[in-house]
Amino acid sequence: MVIKPRIRGFICVTAHPEGCREHVREQMAYVQKQGVISGMPKKFLIIGSSTGYGLASRIVAAMGCRADSIGVFFERPEEAEHPASAGFYNARALDAYARAEGLLSESINGDAFSDAVKEEAIELIRRHLGQVEAIIYSLASPRRTDSRTGETYRSVLKPIGQPFHGKTVHTDKKEIGEIHLEPASETEIRETIRVMGGEDWRRWLEALRTAGVLARNIQTWAYSYIGPELTRPIYAEGTMGQAKRDLEETARCITDDLSGLDGRAFIVINKAVVTQASSAIPVVPLYMSILFRVMKQKGLHEDCIQQMDRLFREQLAQGEQALRDAEGRIRLDDWEMRLDVQEEVRKIWPQITTENLEELSDFAAYQQDFLKLFGFGFPYVDYEADIPLTH
Ligand code: NAD
Repeated sequence: MVIKPRIRGFICVTAHPEGCREHVREQMAYVQKQGVISGMPKKFLIIGSSTGYGLASRIVAAMGCRADSIGVFFERPEEAEHPASAGFYNARALDAYARAEGLLSESINGDAFSDAVKEEAIELIRRHLGQVEAIIYSLASPRRTDSRTGETYRSVLKPIGQPFHGKTVHTDKKEIGEIHLEPASETEIRETIRVMGGEDWRRWLEALRTAGVLARNIQTWAYSYIGPELTRPIYAEGTMGQAKRDLEETARCITDDLSGLDGRAFIVINKAVVTQASSAIPVVPLYMSILFRVMKQKGLHEDCIQQMDRLFREQLAQGEQALRDAEGRIRLDDWEMRLDVQEEVRKIWPQITTENLEELSDFAAYQQDFLKLFGFGFPYVDYEADIPLTH
């Protein structure tokens, strides 16, 4: 079938297999150009490895560290006359590229929150790796079913305590508009923490430790975001910020749990980039469009793959020398949060309208990045070709 982008609100419901492969190849080429990263673990488990930061992490692990990896994700496979989701194609492409380089690359497509998928991962680790040396937790999900209780929790992006009213861009219509969000209820706050907080991360580590598949000095890290004043009411001080606080506290608990193995858990604060998860957050796409313009002008712009390459190469490979903030977190948002960058963004923010959106922001690049997430807009891909679906 001929596959074209079909955008519904903040998501594209189609994905192009050749384009997704090209997206993975492009990211791999970036890492390979920077050279091999020494002093890093060689056996990775990456939870949430098919898109965004998790995919970029897995690409750096494989192509930079020359590491074997097992990836876990939850993606829709191809169905009759319907292409798979982008992450399905990304993972398939990466497995093929990594294996061609002689690396082990295995994938599990299933619900990472379930005990069954944790068991499956343990079996794969036993069979192929013996033990893992590094675990990356990069899930972004709107819901979680606790397989022990059968209860399903939903995460929401809402302010806490008071309503939020502000500017946003309707990305599909290219229009600046207003958004009004009522504060979250206590139940919504609690459920968002259950989905995006640290409980499941700790369960993974508990299951893997009990199964004896964690190597000595095991490292595990999870990704978080803080962001500027502009997004604070709906992010850092909203429901998601609460969940991220829980994730940070969990890092300390996991480090205690891993003391017998001299292992440690920590948080990496990344910068804002276009991913399926971030496109769904109100206000953030407009903030990113302005931010990208400012960061590009200053020569500071980074995408998922540049961020993850910098994390592995300049921070993690330095071991104890890695730069951490007062709370022990690695800060990859240092350039985004620079005073001069934020000052510029703050100046542009009140001036932006539908009419000057293209001129005052890099909305065009935001849209291109968004389409690339689904495998569209790559120059060497023939988008008129009839693609056989191989389900
Ligand atoms: P993403 O939407 O691109 O990726 C989410 C991943 O989680 C995918 O691989 C998906 O398959 C997987 N997933 C979702 N539900 C799952 C389930 N039930 N079982 C197994 N896999 C599941 O998101 P992202 O933006 O890369 O976010 C990853 C992490 O990075 C999140 O913790 C996010 O808060 C953090 N982060 C993102 C940004 C940003 O700007 N995008 C910035 C800083 C931190």
